[in-house]
Amino acid sequence: MAISLDDLPLRDDLRGRSPYGAPEAKVPVALNVNENTHPIPEDVAHDIVESVARAVLQVNRYPDREFTELRESLAGYLDHGLTAANLWAANGSNEVIQQILQAFGGPGRTILGFQPTYSMHTIIASGTGTTWLDGTRDEGFRISPETVRREIERTDPDIVILCGPNNPTGTPLPIETIEAAYDAARGIVLVDEAYAEFMPSHVPTALTLLEGRPRLLVSRTMSKAFAFAGARVGYLAADPGVVDALRLVRLPYHLSSLTQAAAVAALRHAPEMLAMVDDIKAQRDRIVTTLTELGYEPYETWSNFVLFGGVDDPHGVFEKLLERGIIVRDLSIPGHLRVSAGTEAETTAFLDAMRDIR
Ligand code: PMP
Repeated sequence: MAISLDDLPLRDDLRGRSPYGAPEAKVPVALNVNENTHPIPEDVAHDIVESVARAVLQVNRYPDREFTELRESLAGYLDHGLTAANLWAANGSNEVIQQILQAFGGPGRTILGFQPTYSMHTIIASGTGTTWLDGTRDEGFRISPETVRREIERTDPDIVILCGPNNPTGTPLPIETIEAAYDAARGIVLVDEAYAEFMPSHVPTALTLLEGRPRLLVSRTMSKAFAFAGARVGYLAADPGVVDALRLVRLPYHLSSLTQAAAVAALRHAPEMLAMVDDIKAQRDRIVTTLTELGYEPYETWSNFVLFGGVDDPHGVFEKLLERGIIVRDLSIPGHLRVSAGTEAETTAFLDAMRDIR
């Protein structure tokens, strides 16, 4: 029998809190956590296995604390004139964001974010004792340059966190909004670009703004476009001084030698690993078209998922999909559901079920 949380000497601010809540349902068609459901190519998998096998032979030793080879690989992948000195990595971009708030947030400091946004942002803020300030979005979950400027002036935060494309809405974050935020803010501006590879290819990302902006931080992940969610590799591109700051808070050897070996091997195969992105975008666009035909109201999305409104009974639809072996995300946005783009077969299964339910 487990002791109840109420009977433990828990930190006061954690009382009544819930852990991160995406259900871990084992169903044939899981479209609830924005994974890349395309399997990684077999030859790439073999190369990763070989690379990890070599690392296992030295697993008695601590890993490279600076993960230099991985940072060089990431710099090469991102391009944009970045070098290993601009790069940092951790076990998922969740951990990257946690380290950023450990270094720049904490008790007595504030972070401005714009809900609805990625739920871990508020959880990491509370876990690090950083006070969350809620910004107001525009119509359709957008944030214009004027809005970000107004909200920064209103709240005067130590840190601003923006998510582009935004989870759970998929909506674009204009580059002008990021520039305006940087100009208005006195502290760190962190842009969470977990879904950057799904943006239209002609659109500039926050990486293009890094030069000459030392307070701008861009977090990314291998979990989505790279189909590497299980390996846990997220990373940061920023000024080398910011990387120095993260060295002060990271746990020594936080990235295992097996993780480093796997990620370096995967990055050697970036074009093959990313070959699925175009198909995922095509499936996403199919979802938008079909849901519109069915009378739902999908939002413009630059990510690998679609948020749609016009759902009279979101929980009822969620349950009916689950009966058919399909799980989507029932968020706390009334009248809305979110679905990740799957493979062609998974997407077809979802759309057929939606037609059926309608
Ligand atoms: N940022 C956003 C916006 C996300 O949606 C996610 C994952 N759902 C993450 C960060 C975290 O990804 P990971 O820790 O797997 O890198």
